Amino acid sequence: MPFIITPLCVLVRSTLVASSVPRMMATRHNSYMALFKESLKSAKNVAIVTGDDISTESGVPIYGKTSFWRKYQTSILATSGAFLTFPSLVWEFYHYRREMAVKAQPNEAHKAIALFEEKHGKDKSITVITQSIDGLHSRANTKNLIELHGSLFKTRCIKCNDVVPNNDHPICEALANKGSPDSTDTNSDIPEKLLPHCSKPSCTGLLRPDIVWYGDSIDPSVIQKAEAVISACDLCLVVGSPSLLFPAAQYAPDAMNNGAIIAEFNNEMDTNSNYHYSFVGPCSVTLPEALDV
Ligand SMILES: [Zn+2]
Repeated sequence: MPFIITPLCVLVRSTLVASSVPRMMATRHNSYMALFKESLKSAKNVAIVTGDDISTESGVPIYGKTSFWRKYQTSILATSGAFLTFPSLVWEFYHYRREMAVKAQPNEAHKAIALFEEKHGKDKSITVITQSIDGLHSRANTKNLIELHGSLFKTRCIKCNDVVPNNDHPICEALANKGSPDSTDTNSDIPEKLLPHCSKPSCTGLLRPDIVWYGDSIDPSVIQKAEAVISACDLCLVVGSPSLLFPAAQYAPDAMNNGAIIAEFNNEMDTNSNYHYSFVGPCSVTLPEALDV
């Protein structure tokens, strides 16, 4: 019964906060982790919300609102307007990101989540809601996955809106060896006709990455699915809170308001002192231990 445990967890956490003791300090770590494991054991509906931070230990670069690729701020490049104006340049950026993601391997945090689902998926409802677009959760074998921001490995036709998986490497010959962030090129010399196009003979429209860009709306059916998971969960793990954007950033607070227990796992710092548990340290270490896999 997680609700019986809650006040005790809060008490333990308050003690830690008050004494400014690092969450993972050895003297307190065992009991704190043991309490979390009790919460985990009794939970029936587990939501695991992950941000881009989960992939930093796999070497995947994070491109947030204030990052740059070449001389371009990525929040300007990652828009439908930029794509329609400079499709080859935007494809170079995403080709580079696809190649980085392909070279990366799921780390122990991705694997721990997938193993936890494999081990407990019959007696618990377990859903991963990720903001990450790099496909590493799928490659780690997570089955029940909601990709809020789409995927680098899906394309969408701008003419017929058809969305299809695409794992081609490179995605087209013209993009092979293109997209280096170190290049001083300010535009791309790839003719638009050589970029990826829809395979339907009746369409042949230009393909874009199936990613939710700045200014785009998340598919309402995806939001609905994620919100249903959050409403039903009695335990919510939030992994990589600093990189979460709205709506994902709101999921743990919403779950907490509904009475769920919240545990956050962050590489460097805790971000919400109100959560029941906060594990600070490499997620590739804290998650496998916490999930007992
Ligand atoms: Zn099409």
